[in-house]
Amino acid sequence: PSPRPSPHVVLVASPCAGHVMPMAELARRLVAFHGCAATLVTFSGLAASLDAHSAAVLASLPASSVAAVTLPEVTLDDIPAGANIGTLIFELVLRSLPSLREFLRSIGGVAALVPDFFCGVVLDLAVQLGVPGYVFVPSNTASLAFMRRFVEVHDGAAPGEYRDLPDPLRLAGDVTIRVADMPDGYLDRSNPVFWQLLEEVRRYRRADGFLVNSFAEMEPTIVEEFKTAAERGAFPPVYPVGPFVRSSSDEPGESACLEWLDRQPAGSVVFVSFGSAGMLSVEQTRELAAGLEMSCHRFLWVVRMPSLDGESYDFGTDHRNDDDPLAWLPDGFLERTSGRGLAVASWAPQVRVLSHPATAAFVSHCGWNSALESVSAGVPMVAWPLYAEQKVNAVILTEEVAGVALCPAAARGGDGVVAREEVAAAVKELMDPGEKGSAMRRRAREMQVAAARARSPEGASCRALTVVVGKWKNAVQEER
Ligand code: UDP
Repeated sequence: PSPRPSPHVVLVASPCAGHVMPMAELARRLVAFHGCAATLVTFSGLAASLDAHSAAVLASLPASSVAAVTLPEVTLDDIPAGANIGTLIFELVLRSLPSLREFLRSIGGVAALVPDFFCGVVLDLAVQLGVPGYVFVPSNTASLAFMRRFVEVHDGAAPGEYRDLPDPLRLAGDVTIRVADMPDGYLDRSNPVFWQLLEEVRRYRRADGFLVNSFAEMEPTIVEEFKTAAERGAFPPVYPVGPFVRSSSDEPGESACLEWLDRQPAGSVVFVSFGSAGMLSVEQTRELAAGLEMSCHRFLWVVRMPSLDGESYDFGTDHRNDDDPLAWLPDGFLERTSGRGLAVASWAPQVRVLSHPATAAFVSHCGWNSALESVSAGVPMVAWPLYAEQKVNAVILTEEVAGVALCPAAARGGDGVVAREEVAAAVKELMDPGEKGSAMRRRAREMQVAAARARSPEGASCRALTVVVGKWKNAVQEER
């Protein structure tokens, strides 16, 4: 018999830093360990900073194995100023569809399409081409469970009527989330993004399966519930295939923060960072600074520009002028903490920082990539969710499920200011560990081991990906 051909998989990544990076890692692994050929497609034109990020990720891919394609820019000028970032991304994807279709026609021989969250409309192309379509979820199975329930509740209502999501909403087993923890965009019907999200998630029923950037030990009840749902034919199969965390060698090895960390004692530093887009108000920045000062612990803080308009993120779509964020720190703060604290502007090589022996805890906005990077380094967290699905992530990370993070009550609430005392108490609980802090440190180490095992060739995540690739190979075989 002729050898089985390598199935050619085309992955389509929406233009968020937190999506392109794990998809690039998925593409790399499909080629390196699963006998696939892979092309990673990205979009352009949403924001210069996002284009630069995608370009950097694509440039880091081994050119000999993963092909990279950037679709031509489309105009979004007609979309009203102040539109939700989700609205912009959904529109960008929709308007780029003709060039994606053209590209797919030109290459021919595609074995499977893997769009990520935001690119569900690509599933229609999979149907047209007669190839499997799998959605990549750059977040966890909890956020997918939420999306599933969201559509069930809405579509269960009489036509033309819409039901409110119950509070709390059960995700699986005894895992529930409160309305206050629900991801951005799913509650406000007056915002166009609500309808775009509803349409996106409805499309998921047409998916042949889901590849999720998570692993079973992180959220066992939800993974189990999806397994049962797939067996009953109630939902497409969901495969946890992560964690996909970029290697520290993809980051520059020399930076002021790493040099500074090298000079700190092992296990002595709290790393503070709110992702690629997170913003705190001026008042919240002041409280965080005072809390770090009160904790008396060493810290490395990636300071981003504060929010002046109440928004909790800035993806660079508003072309804001980036002044020096450090100028917004309270007067005298840097002088008073010099020697035990370092504040850097906007960006740090996070994977290297988290895996540095000096780093002992992470105050994080709970972006899912950050959470996985922390878990992969065995570092416990203070959960401080800001936007997108980060409050769902915080539920998974805290004692309610994985038990690797503490969440100050005000940070969980979302709207209020987290007072300096709460910041200091959370940092101290993890750094001078009390009973809770010790349990979290232990869980973080256990999860680190579980994450490494899941990714290893014998691990559940790697085996799940083998199963999916087997299906793609069979589909190609049947075609021939
Ligand atoms: N990141 C980084 N340095 C920074 C801030 C962020 O390397 O100073 C990386 C981080 O390691 C992660 C990604 O940017 O891989 C952010 O993704 P995440 O899902 O955590 O949050 P998002 O920025 O998408 O909200």
